[in-house]
Amino acid sequence: MIKHRTPAPTQALAYTVEDLCVRYGGVQAVRSVSLSVAPGEAVGIIGANGAGKTSTLRALMGLVPRAAGSIRLGERDLGKVAARDMVRHGIGYVPEGRHVFPGLPVEKNLLLGAYSRGWRTAGDGALGEVYEQFPVLHQMRSRPAGALSGGQQQMLAIGRALMARPTLVLLDEPSMGLSPKLVDEILDILLRLRASKLSLLLVEQNAELAFGATGRCLVMENGEVVMQGATAELRADPRVRRSYLGL
Ligand code: ATP
Repeated sequence: MIKHRTPAPTQALAYTVEDLCVRYGGVQAVRSVSLSVAPGEAVGIIGANGAGKTSTLRALMGLVPRAAGSIRLGERDLGKVAARDMVRHGIGYVPEGRHVFPGLPVEKNLLLGAYSRGWRTAGDGALGEVYEQFPVLHQMRSRPAGALSGGQQQMLAIGRALMARPTLVLLDEPSMGLSPKLVDEILDILLRLRASKLSLLLVEQNAELAFGATGRCLVMENGEVVMQGATAELRADPRVRRSYLGL
């Protein structure tokens, strides 16, 4: 189980998003999306390619401009927080395509995750905890990140986000490009994170993974949330089974 020895002051606060909108020129990619993640809850966003899932996460991180909408962690307004400062407010991010630094050693990549909290974070046990969770990263710690397999790079991207001891982690399609066996490993990792009481917001095209890892999901189509509910109910819904599970 992943430990969080130093509770962040932001722990046990709900993350609330209201009426988020994203526009790229004339394209409205996200239309009035509202969602919430309770402390320790894992929430999924599923939807086809182009539905607006990545734009939603990127806008929540401040990586693309928001045309409208509010973001709060408890009472704190995160709407004006710059992307580079989100991590200091307890928001971790695992981007689509991992974005590790291929030429840097694995350990340096992990330490970069702690940078925003000051390098001393590595000394307070976060690095050891990440290595405990992902022994393969410890074995490979001196190797360049580019030498890792896709699954290992995904572990590295998740481990890097954990280095800052976040309250909530936003994950963008961690299954992308991975074999079914590795997707199962990612599911195990997400379930362990969930068991450690970390809050998760998981964007996935792989609905099976999202359903396995979360308790509640939103379905996006054309930038809008078209359905939402308990994972078990959505999984049983004939429309979802047809459109997202190929059944
Ligand atoms: P994917 O699973 O492929 O990442 P997605 O559900 O995450 O899909 P987005 O990537 O958020 O969807 O894209 C939503 C819409 O916004 C799409 O129509 C896409 O073409 C458009 N879009 C995304 N990024 C840009 C951009 N930088 N400029 C213009 N349009 C964009």
